[in-house]
Amino acid sequence: MEFKIERPQDQKTQELVDLALAARNNSYSPYSKFRVGAAIRTTDGKIFQGCNIESCSYAPTICAERVAISNAVAAGHKQFDTIAISSDLKEEFITPCGVCRQFMREFSKDLVILMVRPDGTFSRTDLTVLLPGSFGPESLEMPR
Ligand SMILES: [Zn+2]
Repeated sequence: MEFKIERPQDQKTQELVDLALAARNNSYSPYSKFRVGAAIRTTDGKIFQGCNIESCSYAPTICAERVAISNAVAAGHKQFDTIAISSDLKEEFITPCGVCRQFMREFSKDLVILMVRPDGTFSRTDLTVLLPGSFGPESLEMPR
């Protein structure tokens, strides 16, 4: 995967990047020690944050992206335009896990995904790249 490095060019992007980075501070990751933060913006401009939350029995562990989306959905928002995801990786870009890719797909085929490094630089991608040929809610409506 090729990553093009960007910096926030506008205040909206800067805010989303900053909130994703700040969300790392609430990460509960005593087992992996791999902090992740996320911030998702709704199409009407509201932002919801999330962090990864681990469990001593491992399976209940949930990623930052799904916490952010769940926070938004629980507050009544299901239309999203951009999610920023951050970690402590200085050189690499944090990519969402397969489970989160499918969870994002539930709500948006067109979601813009910003993979943010601690210095605020990021690489931009989307689900056509990360989850090609995806199965979505409309797939259930296909003739059977
Ligand atoms: Zn995940």
